[in-house]
Amino acid sequence: MLPDNIANQIAAGEVIQRPASAVKELLENAVDAGAAEIRLYVNDAGKSLIQVTDNGSGMSETDARMAFERHATSKIRNIDDLFHIRTMGFRGEALASIAAVSQVEIRTKRAEDSTGILIEIENSAVLRQEPVATSDGTSISMKNLFFNVPARRNFLKSNASEMRHIVEEFIRVALAFPHVFFSLTSNGQQTFHLEAGSLKQRIVQLLGNQYNSRLVAVKEDTDYLNIHGFVGKPETAKRTRGDQYFFVNNRFIKSPYLNHALQHAYHDMIPSDSFPMYVLFIDLDPTQIDVNVHPTKQEIKFEDEKIVYAFVQAAVKHALAQFSITPTLDFNLDASIQQLDSVQNPFTDEKKSSTQSSSIYKTFSEANQAHKIEGSSFRNWSDMNEETKGREAGFVSLSRNFISFEAQQPLQSKFPSEKKLFLSEHTVLSQIFQTYILVPIEQSFLLVHQQSAHERVIYERLSAAMEGKPVATQQSLFPATLELSPADALILQELLPELQNMGYAVEPFGKSSFVIQGTPADVDTGDEKRSIEKILEHYKHFSSELRLSKREMLLRTVSWQQSIRPNTALSNKEMQQLIEDLFACAQPNTTPSGRPTYLEFKKDQLEKMFGR
Ligand code: ADP
Ligand code: MG
Repeated sequence: MLPDNIANQIAAGEVIQRPASAVKELLENAVDAGAAEIRLYVNDAGKSLIQVTDNGSGMSETDARMAFERHATSKIRNIDDLFHIRTMGFRGEALASIAAVSQVEIRTKRAEDSTGILIEIENSAVLRQEPVATSDGTSISMKNLFFNVPARRNFLKSNASEMRHIVEEFIRVALAFPHVFFSLTSNGQQTFHLEAGSLKQRIVQLLGNQYNSRLVAVKEDTDYLNIHGFVGKPETAKRTRGDQYFFVNNRFIKSPYLNHALQHAYHDMIPSDSFPMYVLFIDLDPTQIDVNVHPTKQEIKFEDEKIVYAFVQAAVKHALAQFSITPTLDFNLDASIQQLDSVQNPFTDEKKSSTQSSSIYKTFSEANQAHKIEGSSFRNWSDMNEETKGREAGFVSLSRNFISFEAQQPLQSKFPSEKKLFLSEHTVLSQIFQTYILVPIEQSFLLVHQQSAHERVIYERLSAAMEGKPVATQQSLFPATLELSPADALILQELLPELQNMGYAVEPFGKSSFVIQGTPADVDTGDEKRSIEKILEHYKHFSSELRLSKREMLLRTVSWQQSIRPNTALSNKEMQQLIEDLFACAQPNTTPSGRPTYLEFKKDQLEKMFGR
């Protein structure tokens, strides 16, 4: 049998691997105790002192004694027990572990007690226990970590490195509890002083001012799980993986899998070698997760990973699409303007209705989407995919952002038709750089990107074509032959039925050859052969994106292929048609891959910028 204190030290090594692990446990205990103010003090990167002071519930004398003894002697009797504990997790082991590997002093007092209690512990043994005058709450200090386990102590890294770990743990806890005051004092110098506030304020306090007014709110609720938090606007993405935080039921977790979902949601908005910022909170029924797969509880296992993945990605995509409707004009605004609610939270109020009418529902309900989710766990999404609702939805989110009106009012009564809302014969459109279309509307103007807008229009037209209204084909007078590599021929062969729906009549002809019998009637494809080759090329490029369905990739490819390029002069009539088509779309504000189709510049924001 192992002597208790040795066994405790071994077990402790699993929970307390370095100063930062003790910091995490002590901070979490203070939060659990309902503290409104939590102060962390460290000396020598926690090697000589870690102290956490809170104004939480405090403990009775018995509880304080129990807190350090719990499991420490009863659970660990032999090596088998140790192994068992390692696999079962370490709930209730933190203080016992800390007491096994450092010199601990605790002062604690409950509000209802007149005096507090002081306990000193070393090597798991109580050295001193006596009443003490102290304020409500708890202060635990641990000195000389691993003083009795030299091997471990020598294993610690440089102060700079251990301090980085501490700060990282501190940030994780402080992000999860923005309504709690936190401070961090290192060697007598206060390095963090975080007033209680909103999550947004906490993010800016902790991660830096560069995120001020560059955060996009994420919020989606379902029966199965909720998500909320913020992601950085694409321009804040960094070259190094840094400000990325997932919390599940308010505990920080590491998840390469969910991180991939995030990275993918930004696809096309940021360079592929850069990393988006996010602070996201996922809440779901604890029975749907297994927190104990890793002893320090930073890795968890979801019962159904795929649903969580799809949901996180859709929620973030949705948020990014929403934000892209507002201008990124606030880039250089002065601080007072940045504080304005309209600049900071353009969407909060009608968030709910817009959420329900949003593409996220469609994403989940479209049968051919890679992420289609079946069944009853998403009850409230199920009836959202009717065409009519989609149209209405686009209309709602559109008008909401153009003209302020009372959300409750039925739209139809106010704006009898979509066209009337936008353009009259008198609206003068102008083209800028042969790339953008300037659209003046009531209290703002829009800058529409002609290619992006056109991609959206074609995409929705083709989506409809896939659902049974095939695009008419113009037969070629002199059908061209296409010679492909065997690999490409296989790909094209697979796509023929969908291409046919889109108006491309292509037939196999021998081994790896095809004949182009016709192309979409209303599209000038120019060189027919070249257009099919380009579709194939672009499609292959998309194929590296495993998460998209075949249909989706083809839709995007062809929309892109047929769209008007920048540097193309447009007549007034063409511009008019494009704008009308765009705003008749179900989701006019982004391209199929999530880029903005237009930016809106509001009159009052312009006036503020001009100091008016
Ligand atoms: P766990 O948090 O898993 O219960 P710990 O070893 O971290 O295990 O803490 C043991 C117990 O000590 C807690 O359950 C709690 O009752 C008590 N405790 C620890 N820290 C505090 C604190 N700062 N304020 C009040 N009670 C505390
Ligand atoms: Mg604890």
